[in-house]
This record gives sequence, C-alpha cells and structure tokens, in this order.
Amino acid sequence: MVDKTTTPAKAKKPLIVMKFGGTSVGTPERMQKVAEILAEHAQEAEVAVVVSAMGGVTDMLIRAANEASQGDNERWKNVRRELARRHREVADQLLSAAEQAAVLPRLAEQVGNFENLCSGFSLVREVTPRAMDTLSSLGEVMSANLLAAILRSRGTPAEAVDATELIVTDDAFGNATPLFEETNAKTRQRLAGLRRRGVMPVITGFRGATREGICTTLGRGGSDYSGTIMGAALDADEVWIWTDVDGVMTTDPRLVPEAHIIPEVSYREAIELSYFGAKVMHPKTIQPMMKKKIPVWIKNSFNPTCPGTKIVPAATNGQAGVKAITSVSKASLVTISGGDRLTFTQLAGRLFSSLSLGSVPTLMVTQSSAENVLCFAVHDGDLKRAKARLEKAFELEMLHDHLACIEVLPHVAIVVAVGENMKGTPGISGRAFSALGRRGINIIAIAQGSSELSISFAVRAADMKEAVKAIHEEFKL
Ligand code: ADP
Ligand code: ASP
Ligand code: MG
Repeated sequence: MVDKTTTPAKAKKPLIVMKFGGTSVGTPERMQKVAEILAEHAQEAEVAVVVSAMGGVTDMLIRAANEASQGDNERWKNVRRELARRHREVADQLLSAAEQAAVLPRLAEQVGNFENLCSGFSLVREVTPRAMDTLSSLGEVMSANLLAAILRSRGTPAEAVDATELIVTDDAFGNATPLFEETNAKTRQRLAGLRRRGVMPVITGFRGATREGICTTLGRGGSDYSGTIMGAALDADEVWIWTDVDGVMTTDPRLVPEAHIIPEVSYREAIELSYFGAKVMHPKTIQPMMKKKIPVWIKNSFNPTCPGTKIVPAATNGQAGVKAITSVSKASLVTISGGDRLTFTQLAGRLFSSLSLGSVPTLMVTQSSAENVLCFAVHDGDLKRAKARLEKAFELEMLHDHLACIEVLPHVAIVVAVGENMKGTPGISGRAFSALGRRGINIIAIAQGSSELSISFAVRAADMKEAVKAIHEEFKL
C-alpha cells in the first residue's frame, strides 16, 4: 500500500513568460540559440514566449510603407525580396521538411499582405496610422511562426499565436493602450487549451487589436510591454526579457564602454530609466507588473549563463546615491513667458492642459515664477505637435502681445541621473554640476523631482556623450 503521507506531491512548475528581442532572433544562428534556451528552460518551467520581429525588419517595413506612399515602387519591391529572403533563410536552415511545408505558405501569405498593402499605399499616395500598424507588425507574425516551427522541429511542442487574438487595445494606432480586463480574460481563455496540452505558445510581440479586431501596435520597442502584459494576464511567476546585453547597465554601453551591469533595480528606477531613454526596456514595461509585484529579469541571449538584472518592486540593496545615468538625445527646450496679464498658475494651467489635449509628454519642466516664465523639454518627434497646441491655446494673447512669443531651443539632450537612494544623500547635484563644469559643459536647465528619484540636466546635444561620461565617472559607476 502506498503511504500517501510520504509520497511527494508533484510540484507545479513555475510559469515564466520569456520575451526575445529583435537581436536575439536576428539570424538563423540566433533563432537556433533561442530554441536551445527555450528547450532547456521548458524542463523546469512552463514557458510562454513573446517574440519580436527579426532585427531590422520593423524599420525596413516602416521605411517601405513610407516610400510606397510617396509613389516609389522600386524600393518596397526590394524590401519585399529582402523580407522573403531573410525568413526563408531561417526556414531553409532550421526546419524539418514537414515543418517547411507547413510554415512556408504562412510566410508567403505575410509577404503577400506586405505586397498588397504597399501597392495600396502607392496607389493612394498615403499610409494611414491604422494601415501602418498592420504592416509594421508583420515581422512579428513571421518570426513567431518560424520560432514555433523551429521548436517543433526540435521536438518541443509549440504553436504560434497572434497577439491580435489576446491583447485588446484602444484605437490609438501606433501607440495603443491595452484594455487590461478584456486582455486578461481573452488571453487566459485562448491559451488555456495549449497550456493544458503542454504546448508552448509563441506569441507575436508589439501588436494587439481593437475590440473590433483591427490590428494596433504598442509603440516602437513595444514587445517588452507585450511580454509583461502576457505575464500579468497569465499570473506568471516571472517575466524574462532576453536581449543583447547582460542586463540593465549603469548607462548605455554604446555611449560609455565602461558601463557595467546592475544586479538589481527597483520598479521605480526601471520606469525612470526607460522613460528617459534607456532602450533596454519599453517605458511601459513595468506597469502591468505593479499590482501583482511580478519580478522581471533582463537577460542576455548571447550570454545566457549570466544571471542578468532582477527588477523588483522595491530595491533590497541600500546602495546610496546615483545608480545609473540615462539620456535622451533628440530633444528641444520650449520657453513660454506669460507677461503681466496671466498669473503663473494660469499660464501653467493653460500650457499643460493644451499639451495634455495633444498627448504630448514632457521630459522636464522648470519654472521661474517671478518672471512668469516656464520652460519644458520635449522629444523632437513631439515638438511640432507641442508648438501647434500652444499656439492655439495662446492665440489671443499672442495676437495682442500679452504673451511673449514661444521660443524653441533645438538640439538639446536631457541627461538623467537615477537612483532611489539619492534621497537623503546630500551634494549629488553639486557633484554632477562640478563634474560637468570641469569638462566645460554648459548646463542649460536642471530639474529634480521632490521624490529625488532622478535629477535631469539639459545640455547641448553635442555635449551629451561627454556629459554622460562625466557623471558616470564622478559617481564611480
Ligand atoms: P531588443 O532587440 O532585445 O529589444 P534593444 O536594442 O531594444 O534590444 O535594447 C537593448 C539595447 O539597449 C542594448 O543593446 C543597449 O545598447 C541599449 N541600452 C541603453 N541604455 C541601456 C542601459 N542602461 N542598460 C542596458 N542597455 C541599454
Ligand atoms: N519589432 C518592434 C520594433 O522594432 C517591437 C520590438 O522590437 O519591441 O519596434
Ligand atoms: Mg527593444
């Protein structure tokens, strides 16, 4: 007779969502490596995969759409060939004959979609944001189909799933926001059968769909966000974001080669870093994790034995001071003076409601209330919209000379020092000031939030690299 008290209960495997970025799936060799990583982890964990387009594909698709809409038929046809060639190469090298027979028609279907869309753009000389989303996220459909087939060829049961069947969003094409309740319900329902049968879902990153089923995208670099949206929907134990660096680093290693990996960062630090340009994560990545406090790991698919960075609800190491430096390179400073007809609060109120109506995010804000002057920084990509909004909001005041004109200072970079424990560490801005001063870098504006999570410096764009280096060195990161 079996003694039930001593028979160990079969432990439930943890559920991990693993997202692979474009560089991790950029070539047949990289795809193969990803399949190996997945097969290995599938032994101890239940894994759901989220995959980006092969590196460079999304850029190529967007460029082709724009060129087609200008009536240039030559270029998008070249892209069509390149698109087919890159995916075909993976299929040729890594798929069994049976899998090739199953997957090649699906790839051809996507290339056909690309062709139809581009000829349409070229015909009407226009590409709408809605059509752009369908086109720009085709790369994810192709890579998910390929990766699932590679896994099956190697004996791991897997199935490609289009995130348009899982992630429900609003209709802000190009930068859609998920509707979480509907997304969670749909995701759980759609994936339940696969999970029960032990089939690994390989989900397209970047894309979702409106309630009506129209394809949307989550913004450039949005597959990280897809990963955590899936993590929250499935109540995952962890989300792992596989990329091409060893983890979150003290600064962008392309700017400062001495940058090194940070073993642990808090949610707040990660949000701050990604908002201010650390490309390693999409700015909204952490948001879906906050309620359930799910940890996120950043790992290197080129160096999978390196533990990476753990992003946790609150940092446990008490390292004081600056933890990382990040920067936004293409920004402009806008200065607006209220004159004597508007109080400072009226000026600020009108200014920010107009920016909010245009959904223009600001990077930093400084005020000088005695002179009734407000200055803010925006990404260059948002500048035209910001200016148009302000000119509309203050049209009358400007007409009557009650408001000095709106001035724009272009070619600015915002350099940001981030660290939860900067709070209560005196002298941080002073040290950063001196470090920049010693190198002759002029600080155009400075802003520090009362949370003391970050300090931002606006400098000339040409000084950005040097400024990041100077602060990185000063705090011995
Ligand atoms: P993926 O294709 O995996 O999504 P990305 O290119 O979007 O990869 O993001 C990874 C890149 O982010 C790295 O190669 C690195 O150059 C850049 N990066 C910028 N800031 C940081 C930082 N603080 N830590 C790590 N990487 C950073
Ligand atoms: N492929 C998309 C992009 O390049 C999404 C991503 O890679 O995260 O923006
Ligand atoms: Mg990315």
